[in-house]
Amino acid sequence: KINKLTLRQLINDGIKKLSLKMKSIHWFRNDLRLADNPALSAASGNDVLPIFILDPKDSENMGQASKLWLHHSLNKLNESLDGKLQFIHGDTIDEIRKLINSEKIDAIYWNKIFEPEQELKDRDLINSLHIDYQIFNGSLLWKPESILKDDGTPYKVFTPFYRKGCVKFGETPREPLPKAKLNFFHANKKSSLDELNLLPLHPWKKKIESKWDMGEESAMKRLDDFLESGIQNYKEGRNYPSKRFVSRLSPHLHFGEISPNQIWFKTRANGDDKNIDHFCSELGWREFSHYLIHHFSFMLEENLNSNFDAFPWENNTQLIESWKRGETGYPIVDAGMKELWETGYMHNRVRMIVGSFLVKNLLTHWSYGRDWFNDCLVDADLANNTASWQWVAGTGADAAPYFRIFNPVKQGQDFDKDGEYTKKYLPQLSNMPDKYLFNPWEAPREILDDAGIKLGENYPHPIVELKSSRENALASFAQIKKKK
Ligand code: FAD
Repeated sequence: KINKLTLRQLINDGIKKLSLKMKSIHWFRNDLRLADNPALSAASGNDVLPIFILDPKDSENMGQASKLWLHHSLNKLNESLDGKLQFIHGDTIDEIRKLINSEKIDAIYWNKIFEPEQELKDRDLINSLHIDYQIFNGSLLWKPESILKDDGTPYKVFTPFYRKGCVKFGETPREPLPKAKLNFFHANKKSSLDELNLLPLHPWKKKIESKWDMGEESAMKRLDDFLESGIQNYKEGRNYPSKRFVSRLSPHLHFGEISPNQIWFKTRANGDDKNIDHFCSELGWREFSHYLIHHFSFMLEENLNSNFDAFPWENNTQLIESWKRGETGYPIVDAGMKELWETGYMHNRVRMIVGSFLVKNLLTHWSYGRDWFNDCLVDADLANNTASWQWVAGTGADAAPYFRIFNPVKQGQDFDKDGEYTKKYLPQLSNMPDKYLFNPWEAPREILDDAGIKLGENYPHPIVELKSSRENALASFAQIKKKK
């Protein structure tokens, strides 16, 4: 005999079973978060198998600092998925196909990575699929293909791209979605994060780990802290590397622990002033970098401005090594390179200074700098890194003109006047008076003695002379101008 209550229970169970029948995969990529994740939200109603694939084709281009970040970020994500994240090491397409068969999957969802290689991979995956799939934009405010000039060609200059293309005529960015409520399930095969072997063995990793908190929760906290005390002086303050006026959200954004939409809307909700506008326009620069590599994918390897193909780069190995080690003899440059090594981050102003020095004073092709940054930065990002290096070098879109060469002595004096930043990363210069902090080779012997500095012993002599290296760069530039 079945009573009314049991009958209702049976019907409910049946409905539940029917509505949960669809099994789908969420393929996590650079979207390591649960909130404002369009592909994840689209899967609500399904049973979802969350997976992350480390494809050797991608990991071979990934720097040590990025791998370190990724390890911890995946660990946090897995915790928020109650340990259900499936870690896979192998070829993306093969692994997804195997999983679809072994787990009897009905559909797969993912958020796109706007990088040419990744878009090709998406295309190959789609061609190999025999189940439903859906792809979303979870990483950009505006899709690169939807913003064009009136004549249908892509922008090459930031301001019209941003003001006219994005903000004025473009669609308003999509509002952030709430955290998806989903039913996640485990794959039959057990997996562990350690199998991905992402953690570098080098003891250096401890320093980086002590400086950052990875994961979605920490990303949101970082944004909240920045909105509480930072953005109020962003426009001016963002130039000073010792001050806490920048957000340091870049690695969180790169790995998608937070979306640009969450940042955009939360920031805009704080009001409307020059600091907020300026901060949003920096998010615009991030959009512009992705836009450029989408429309001009050759710039990942070649100069966007082909006039520079004939430039007589010297690419002197010894000088490049001194630059990497922070032993150029120019304190603001060396402090920046030490910050990079010790923290996996470098302040934007200093990125521009060390970049100008490498490309212009040392006559090194920008790709050497890009590769070193890629290995050391926790926010290493194919689009931002490539477009920014080309910008610094003068070979890119809307770039700083080649003939504008940063003077590292003046930059130090203007933006790190009291030497707080420089002395933090070069403690041996702690007792140098301000007057000679950025040009110790000009200090009289007694001043160096008093400060405990022995040039060539505990701080290097300059590896190039500023005036002559500048003139050399300008002469090389004049050569390619003549050839135009
Ligand atoms: P904030 O000033 O708080 O800005 C907020 C966000 O806006 C950043 O997180 C970033 O996503 C974006 N943003 C800010 N400035 C820029 C910019 N100039 N170009 C593009 N996006 C920007 N940024 C990376 O994310 N990855 C890189 O690999 C990278 N390489 C760079 C290499 C060079 C030579 C230079 C000059 C800049 C590079 N940048 C790169 C851009 C910029 O330096 C960093 O995004 C910024 O310093 C990150 O710090 P933040 O989050 O505190 O920035």
